[in-house]
Amino acid sequence: MTNALELSDVCIDYGDGESVVHALDHVSLSVKPGEFVAVVGPSGSGKSTLLAVAGALTTPDSGSVKIAGTDVAGMNDAQLAKMRRDHIGFVFQSTTNLPAALKAKEQLELAARIQGKRGRRSVTELLAAVEMEHRADYRPAQLSGGERQRIGIARALVAGPELLLVDEPTAALDRNRSHDIVRLLAEECHDLGVAGVMVTHDLDVLEYCDRIYEMTDGRLTPAALS
Ligand code: ADP
Repeated sequence: MTNALELSDVCIDYGDGESVVHALDHVSLSVKPGEFVAVVGPSGSGKSTLLAVAGALTTPDSGSVKIAGTDVAGMNDAQLAKMRRDHIGFVFQSTTNLPAALKAKEQLELAARIQGKRGRRSVTELLAAVEMEHRADYRPAQLSGGERQRIGIARALVAGPELLLVDEPTAALDRNRSHDIVRLLAEECHDLGVAGVMVTHDLDVLEYCDRIYEMTDGRLTPAALS
């Protein structure tokens, strides 16, 4: 099975000379379709840089990045944008980026139209999967934080991405809602065969993850959590 994400020996440095920061220091990570993995680590350890590389938002100084089996080396900005549009779904920590005027179902329809394709599930099926059928006609201001996050997840999946990148999904949620959201993310990745990578500070929700990695000073290692 082709890995949905394959990072091999990826390095990114910021600055130079004595002030150089190894934001990513020989990072390797492979994620298969249907796997949901977590990356934990303190602020400044390189987690955002990892998501930026995995999300074809930036290319590394060295090492290779393959997304859905394609190496992004040498791609220009337009090619990277196409890579993101065609293969990657993003879930952000706050879903204040849902257009205020659109109803929940329209958020998903717009995303599918922009990306020019639909995944296996219809908008209605996706709304049901995230338990938001009853909110299909609600606008963001009428939804709770947890409900907006559910719409954000459905929207990220609507075009049928191979890779789902998730940045601190529980940052604005209470404990119960955090569990619900991460359980949902894991279930959707498993059910749809999507590879998920979640960056989080929230050690409380790691039970739903297939593998857990720790980021320390740009280095990624399997987590030794007790
Ligand atoms: P995290 O997401 O874990 O907080 P980041 O990936 O944002 O960590 O940052 C990793 C390291 O790289 C930090 O030391 C940060 O200061 C540095 N860094 C990140 N982006 C830049 C940048 N554009 N210019 C200079 N340094 C940066």
